[in-house]
Amino acid sequence: MAIRKAMVAGNWKMNGSLELVKQMSDAINNVKSKKIDVVLFPPFPLVSALIASGVSTGTQTISEYKPGAFTGEVDAQLVKDLGAEYVLVGHSERRSIYNESNSTVAEKFSRAQQVGLTPILCVGESESEQENGKTELVVAAQIDAVIEKLGVAALKDSVIAYEPVWAIGTGKTASPEQAQNVHKFIRDKIAALDSDLAQGLTILYGGSVNEKNSELLFAQTDIDGGLIGGASLKADSFSAICESA
Ligand code: PGA
Repeated sequence: MAIRKAMVAGNWKMNGSLELVKQMSDAINNVKSKKIDVVLFPPFPLVSALIASGVSTGTQTISEYKPGAFTGEVDAQLVKDLGAEYVLVGHSERRSIYNESNSTVAEKFSRAQQVGLTPILCVGESESEQENGKTELVVAAQIDAVIEKLGVAALKDSVIAYEPVWAIGTGKTASPEQAQNVHKFIRDKIAALDSDLAQGLTILYGGSVNEKNSELLFAQTDIDGGLIGGASLKADSFSAICESA
């Protein structure tokens, strides 16, 4: 992890409140001296309040389109103008519940970079894909969709989050070895196209990370931090995870 700056990101999903913004910003501002990037991804209505509290902020999705007649969608430029820095693209819940395909995810990745937001590309296999030995195939296809559309250089200003779907919200974390193997696969795959880029690329692990398992996960060579769901809603747990990075 030493060659890359560690990042701990908290995905609130459809949770949170103005009260939680206050609690979490107090907690995060206390760990700020550490040399890691801490970023929170609240629901849209809380974005401005979180930015105003001094916390580095991203959104959980954006529209792949430019402004226009897309009722209910949120434009990336507006997110950027508010002061957000990051956006999650391709979270497994977006892929499975909202049917976002690899190509839609690549469009969102592209739109994020057009406006100067850093996309965090979420990838990961389902439980049955894992059981059938398809992890590398699935993860490679998810990454290739972006490389084919934008070229490998686009990954330079991005972060990848490996989140096995079977580990998200289930309490079943990938073992440090299991996660490291997939992270190494991702880095090697990208290194085959651009070795320097791959060495500098931040790759996060997500899926039931908590304050008890984070240290061992983050100690793996190719794991540069975490994308945290449930435990990012509790100030104590989230700051302990940040401290372990
Ligand atoms: P979890 O969620 O930490 O609750 O498993 C992770 C995520 O969905 O990003």
